[in-house]
Amino acid sequence: MRPEFRTLRDHPEVSVLIVGGGINGIGLFYELALQGIDVLLVEKSDFCAGTSAAMTRVIHGGLRYLENAEFRLVRESLRERNRLIRNAPHYVKPLPTTIPIFSWTSGMVAGVRNLLNWPTKPGNRGAVLIKTGLTLYDFLAGRKSPLPRHRFRSRRAALELRPALNPEVICTATYYDAKITYPERLCLELVEDAEAACSEAHAMNYVRLQSAAGGTVVLHDEVSGESCEVRPKVVVNATGAWIDATNREFGRKSQFIGGTKGSHIVLDHPELVKATGDDMIYFVNRDGRICIFYAVQGKVIAGATDIPTEDPDAVCDEGEVDYLLESMRQAFPGIKVDRSHVVFRFCGVRPLPRSNALTPGQISRDHSFPVLPAGNGIDFPIYSLVGGKWTTFRALAEQVADEILRVLGRKRVRSSADVPIGGGKGYPRMPEGTGLPQDRLLTLQERYGTGADSVVAYMQAGPDAPLNCHPGYSRREIEYIALNERVVHLDDLIMRRTLMGLLGEVNRPLLEELASIVSPVLGWPEEKAAAEIERTVQLLRKVHGAMAAA
Ligand SMILES: Cc1cc2nc3c(=O)[nH]c(=O)nc-3n(C[C@H](O)[C@H](O)[C@H](O)COP(=O)(O)OP(=O)(O)OC[C@H]3O[C@@H](n4cnc5c(N)ncnc54)[C@H](O)[C@@H]3O)c2cc1C
Repeated sequence: MRPEFRTLRDHPEVSVLIVGGGINGIGLFYELALQGIDVLLVEKSDFCAGTSAAMTRVIHGGLRYLENAEFRLVRESLRERNRLIRNAPHYVKPLPTTIPIFSWTSGMVAGVRNLLNWPTKPGNRGAVLIKTGLTLYDFLAGRKSPLPRHRFRSRRAALELRPALNPEVICTATYYDAKITYPERLCLELVEDAEAACSEAHAMNYVRLQSAAGGTVVLHDEVSGESCEVRPKVVVNATGAWIDATNREFGRKSQFIGGTKGSHIVLDHPELVKATGDDMIYFVNRDGRICIFYAVQGKVIAGATDIPTEDPDAVCDEGEVDYLLESMRQAFPGIKVDRSHVVFRFCGVRPLPRSNALTPGQISRDHSFPVLPAGNGIDFPIYSLVGGKWTTFRALAEQVADEILRVLGRKRVRSSADVPIGGGKGYPRMPEGTGLPQDRLLTLQERYGTGADSVVAYMQAGPDAPLNCHPGYSRREIEYIALNERVVHLDDLIMRRTLMGLLGEVNRPLLEELASIVSPVLGWPEEKAAAEIERTVQLLRKVHGAMAAA
């Protein structure tokens, strides 16, 4: 039995139960733990395996939301963006973002109508509109923003810098947001920091909500098959796109979510990597939708679609792949790009509020936390975390935590606003006296921030060697992750502790090598290791269109 289940069997009372371990559930877990609240988080899969792993990986203020006149949301998002650059500098880095512009005055009528609250489908945005938007964006970011202000480039300068860009461009604008290199790892670090801050805060992956009645909630361990009961005072439903389904499991009806699915593709295409350079290209399609392309470790990520769906488990379909490829051809007409370049695809469902907006892009990305009061056979209130963005998880968590503290009759003791997270503490300190080459140390720092200290100490405590199938990682580095980072399945390792899955680097020999390293650490007999390899192959093929030849 899991040690946490044993403790819960003896002491089932807990102040707060959070169901769902995406960024919103984990953000709240962290916030409550900092206040010394006994809190339990359960996640049916791995931490950050849902929509939170399907993001564009941009920490941003939401330039586009200015079109919907959501100034408060943009200001809050920019403030949180700036905080994340400070608190998680190991993973959140400045990202220059370039908008190719194809007209001077387009979009002004639609822009004014939207500002006046007459919703109008956005089309092409011209230079005047973009200049106005970026000036406002810089203003809302505040004087203390750590990022430079926007700038325009003439057609000539833009094409000199990026010769592959569509030659119909009349100028480009470049502004700054931030990229997040390892959102999944940042989630894990928040979990670990929370548990370190409060001995009564516990988070478990692969545990799902099973049923609820009266004051009791039954939890089910997906790995051992065991169940246990808890008696919470308050429940938070942080299950994102699954929120209404989860409320039904509590025996409560809700219609909070009107999700839209968003897909990305990852391309192995050196010419495109060169064409995008260090910038994210923010390209407005012929249909007025925005597509972004940027390079990550030698591959290009392109996304995202925005399509209404009722299915929280939606996957990226062939039509979406075609659409994203076509967008890239519009942006870079001289570059040949097709399906043979796609090495990975991923999809997530935005847990947006139900809405009658004209287009999915016009549904607000703001958050709310409606409450279902105790009743209908349930003795505790259920708060549902609806909407929001990855970027604003801390602001949402702060607001919900204040409400929960009020309900529990407790006081806030600490703000999370300036607390460094995980390997962001003491960054950019590097491990010293290790004898490792500088480029290897830099790679470890980029992967673990100042957490590289413990990784290196483990690596050096025994004989180590680079992996045969992925020399960028070493055997003891993988062993360290398996021992210390709550890996349950092989796909946790390749999808969320490393970028191997996202970058389309996985093949069967690599999976076999990884399984041979983690099996002794995780106590997997031979059949279990084989089953884990098969599970991962199926996941990569069916959900991510990867490993076609394996
Ligand atoms: C395509 C796309 C691109 C995006 N890009 C960005 C971006 O670049 N920047 C940004 O700021 N935001 C972005 N977002 C928005 C952001 O990703 C989401 O708002 C955020 O991740 C939602 O987090 P969540 O925790 O609410 O949901 P999720 O991450 O989906 O978490 C919910 C969790 O609940 C778990 N769960 C479900 N049912 C149960 C149960 N019964 N028991 C236990 N656990 C359960 C699920 O497994 C899941 O892990 C993007 C969203 C999409 C779809």
